[in-house]
Amino acid sequence: MIVKNKPGLFQRFYLLEALAGLKITISKIFKKKVTIQYPEERREYSDRYRGMHYIKSVNGVENCTACMLCPTVCPAECIHIEAGERDDKEKYPVKFEIDSLRCCFCGMCEEACPKDAIKLSNIYEMSQTTREAYDKEYLMEQRGHK
Ligand code: SF4
Ligand code: SF4
Repeated sequence: MIVKNKPGLFQRFYLLEALAGLKITISKIFKKKVTIQYPEERREYSDRYRGMHYIKSVNGVENCTACMLCPTVCPAECIHIEAGERDDKEKYPVKFEIDSLRCCFCGMCEEACPKDAIKLSNIYEMSQTTREAYDKEYLMEQRGHK
């Protein structure tokens, strides 16, 4: 059975509803604002926030030894590493790319890394004008934001 809830003539002017809405608006004017004027104002984010990745390095040499653990655990399969060997037989990533469009920022790569090389920073502004993955040089530049 269809029940029709027909508004009366007075209700059709919506005057009471408009006034009720206005009352709520006015009651909020002098209350403390919860919004901020982004991008001029920014909030401090929690240390647990997981944003843009970066690769830790010492004197320009990345901590990563291309052990392939992070691409193995990554559920989005968005880490691509090509390993190489230095003169001292130490392994290093010749290529290290992260496709942030596929990444779900789960933090498993950070958890899995035995060298504490890959980290997630608190950078949340990651818009790009291309679809290219972040490369090693870019990821190393992002260091120190957490
Ligand atoms: S945060 Fe998760 S999805 Fe993103 S690269 Fe790391 S393991 Fe993969
Ligand atoms: S887990 Fe760490 S050391 Fe191993 S490849 Fe990934 S970033 Fe490099």
